[in-house]
Amino acid sequence: MDRVECVVVGAGVIGLAIARQLARSGREVIVLEAADNIGTETSSRNSEVIHAGIYYPAGSLMARTCVSGRPALYAYCREHGIPHRTCGKLVVATTEREVDRLRAIRAHAEANGVEDIQFLSGGDARALEPALHCVAALLSPSTGIIDSHTFMLALRGDAERDGATFAFLTPLLGAKATPHGLEIETGGDSPMTLACDLLINAAGLGAPAVARRIEGMPVDRIPPAYLAKGSYFSCSVRAPFSRLIYPVPEPGGLGVHLTLDLAGQPRFGPDVEWIEIPNYDVDPGRATQFYPAIRRYWPDLPDGALIPAYSGIRPKIVPPAVAVQDFMIEGPADHGLTGLINLFGIESPGLTSSLAIADHVAALAVK
Ligand SMILES: Cc1cc2nc3c(=O)[nH]c(=O)nc-3n(C[C@H](O)[C@H](O)[C@H](O)COP(=O)(O)OP(=O)(O)OC[C@H]3O[C@@H](n4cnc5c(N)ncnc54)[C@H](O)[C@@H]3O)c2cc1C
Repeated sequence: MDRVECVVVGAGVIGLAIARQLARSGREVIVLEAADNIGTETSSRNSEVIHAGIYYPAGSLMARTCVSGRPALYAYCREHGIPHRTCGKLVVATTEREVDRLRAIRAHAEANGVEDIQFLSGGDARALEPALHCVAALLSPSTGIIDSHTFMLALRGDAERDGATFAFLTPLLGAKATPHGLEIETGGDSPMTLACDLLINAAGLGAPAVARRIEGMPVDRIPPAYLAKGSYFSCSVRAPFSRLIYPVPEPGGLGVHLTLDLAGQPRFGPDVEWIEIPNYDVDPGRATQFYPAIRRYWPDLPDGALIPAYSGIRPKIVPPAVAVQDFMIEGPADHGLTGLINLFGIESPGLTSSLAIADHVAALAVK
């Protein structure tokens, strides 16, 4: 049987960042990807926002990897010429009742180490964004946007330059623990069995299913998989904003916010729709809920301006009634299988955190 040092399952932004990190430290890496290219699932179905790290529970992996991953990502973008912009974001209170929420969010952000958040009156916020309706706002100057596909291409390029190889249309079908690591079995046109020292399960929405296919993996260390779909609408008119505009967060997501792409085109979303079976259709009827949500902060949104765009699915590991989850990254100390690291629930801010998550996994891999 062929042997390779490290196998990474999944070529989304997380698997790519991990493959790059392992390869640059001199390890032999093969990336197995079920699809025919990199980043075809959640990594190309998101808001492409570089988050500051405002909302996540203090001390959580989400908070820590976002706050350390953000400057790392900006630096990577500068070094590799990845299109990005530090455009800043406003979180807006549209009623007096929401102002206390803003103060709580600011305190929380500071506890997370996000120290540049500013509290603005409605007037000060409108001086920045004249079309905005709000009674107060938080300004996060370090929030930005990124061309996520160019970022993933750069990660792949780095990994390949350092010797990593990619096997597309090659799903992991199963694995079992041995005294010397793991043996894995793949599907696809050229099925193979392969022995490895280290198996990284970065299969995104498929991570719990991949873990269930690993013989010996304790089932009580595999979280359930819940799917929280988020749909986006684009806009037929140019939105008069130069910063990202977010309402106060809602259960399951950050509320229907306005983000901008690098060409300045607005898109709205994602909303939250709990689904059983993955699908990426955007129901045009959902626009009826978007209009009132957006008009709370942009009253002049014209009728008929919203156009169904795309959707993504948050890989939740907690049910709808549970408001917060954390990234769940577990190695041998947690589940007892030598050479296995599972990544579960890598929803937002996974793109922002990707380089820090890769560092975290590389540290687990040497222990
Ligand atoms: C609606 C939405 C908005 C978001 N907005 C932001 C944002 O603005 N900023 C931010 O920082 N983060 C954001 N995120 C989070 C971010 O997009 C994700 O955290 C990140 O893309 C997860 O990457 P991944 O590599 O874990 O998963 P994926 O990109 O889904 O990659 C997993 C890969 O594994 C492959 N795979 C699955 N099963 C197998 C198998 N058995 N064998 C081989 N391959 C397999 C899949 O084909 C896929 O390519 C958002 C997420 C969503 C859903």
